[in-house]
Amino acid sequence: MGDLVELAPGCGYLPGAVNAGVVWSENGAAVAVDTGGDRDVGRSVLRAVQARGLVLTAVVNTHSHADHYGGNDYLLRQLPGLEVWAPELEEAVLRNPYLEPFSLYGARPPEALQNKWLMAKPSAVHHVYSTADGQLEVAGLVLRVHPADGHSARQAALGFGPVCYAADSFFGPEVLDKYEIPFTHHVAGQQETLERMRNWPYEWFVPGHGAPVRRHELAPVLEANLRAVRQATDRVRRALAGGATADEVTHRVAAELRSPPANPSTYFLLRATVMAHLAHLLELGEATWELERGTLRWRPSG
Ligand SMILES: [Zn+2]
Repeated sequence: MGDLVELAPGCGYLPGAVNAGVVWSENGAAVAVDTGGDRDVGRSVLRAVQARGLVLTAVVNTHSHADHYGGNDYLLRQLPGLEVWAPELEEAVLRNPYLEPFSLYGARPPEALQNKWLMAKPSAVHHVYSTADGQLEVAGLVLRVHPADGHSARQAALGFGPVCYAADSFFGPEVLDKYEIPFTHHVAGQQETLERMRNWPYEWFVPGHGAPVRRHELAPVLEANLRAVRQATDRVRRALAGGATADEVTHRVAAELRSPPANPSTYFLLRATVMAHLAHLLELGEATWELERGTLRWRPSG
């Protein structure tokens, strides 16, 4: 991790594979927005905050993916008074990381899926917040909350001053290019979040992965994200030709990728995203599912 980059007075972030946000008040109280995937990021956040003479008093997590709350455990051990805030529903995963590989696998996940990429160390959650539009007063700082569903069940984007910490509601162009298909839990929600974000009143938008984007550069980045989501739906729709099981659809989609999944974790992440697009097509009336002699087969409608 690098040093704290200040985007505006009281608003900064630590660049890394996962960006960690830091906001602070004039009286020196600092709040971290996400803490990266492990103790190393937690340590970098704490060092960066202390180097500025600030006191870390709270962490606000945007969602429950392991790479966004993995530093919580370290910070809670170092700072016993630290208060953790997490969105409703997501908070259950911070407290019980097992729920993440369990939900991806659909049963008790094999040990190979109980790894640090899918499960961080558990974190206490002291405050559960609603992701409906509103404000959050944390350690004397007022953060604005925007619902950012889609990527995960109840993701929040958080605004402070002129900076929006957008979490994984959009990805930087180089990250999109690498992953090709953005991870999603709910396709319509993901699209709606990307469309609403255009109107959020900020000068800077910091994604969880990738460089911060200035307001005047935001429209093409959001459009590229929307395009990637639509392309993912198209890939899944094409993979239904002639009828296919969910695993066959996943296989056909994976076969088209420049970097298909190379381990069980990335396979189940892709499979969950395919399931989200299948549900989306079903709800649009563009796909049907039918049991044929005990096999659930998906087909394009009409
Ligand atoms: Zn995420």
